[in-house]
Amino acid sequence: MTRLVVIVIIVVLAVWLLRRAIAGPRKPTEPTGEPKGDLVNCAHCNVNLPKAEARSAGGRFYCSEEHWRLGPRDG
Ligand SMILES: [Zn+2]
Repeated sequence: MTRLVVIVIIVVLAVWLLRRAIAGPRKPTEPTGEPKGDLVNCAHCNVNLPKAEARSAGGRFYCSEEHWRLGPRDG
């Protein structure tokens, strides 16, 4: 039982350190950094793309003008 607790603590610590290592090297001031948190899904083909590059219509987003014209696939 104690071994299990130790393993869980090690795993949690490893994940925490890994996440810190990934988030660490990112420079806070990037002039032309992509807003990676602002991803949207194309309502037609469901591809992920930055919101800035997406076309929007009726609260939905599309990856291209073609898909914007075609509209949502399941609707
Ligand atoms: Zn699309």
